[in-house]
Amino acid sequence: MSEEFPEQLAVYLAEREAQRASAVDATLGALTERERRLVCEAAVMGYVQGTRHPAGAEHPKNAAVLHLVIDACLAFSDLYPVITGVQPCSECQHPKYNHREGEDPVSPGTCLECEADDDEDAHHDYAAAPSPRSPEPR
Ligand SMILES: [Zn+2]
Ligand SMILES: [Zn+2]
Repeated sequence: MSEEFPEQLAVYLAEREAQRASAVDATLGALTERERRLVCEAAVMGYVQGTRHPAGAEHPKNAAVLHLVIDACLAFSDLYPVITGVQPCSECQHPKYNHREGEDPVSPGTCLECEADDDEDAHHDYAAAPSPRSPEPR
């Protein structure tokens, strides 16, 4: 085996990795924001469920996987707001549970996640945006 071979292989592998990375970016870039977030939530919960799958156990059918993932998302609806239809704050896009109400009607509430990020707009009330997926509240 020549000395050059491992070097060429390393270059080839690095090129392939870069190609795959840009293919991933292009694929995600072609999605709408909502599609991207749906895929993200489903992928994250699918990963979580996958880590809990017993080694060697039979892989469930797609429909069963889908049911499992959606069921698990519904149990943590604030963490999977796009799938479950829980609306993130229209002010900052953070989930409702991160918001604290103001002490009185005059002072606004606080988004704890914004506050943690040192966002100067952290002081606001949770604002629900109309969902394209669920009907307007009556
Ligand atoms: Zn907010
Ligand atoms: Zn926020």
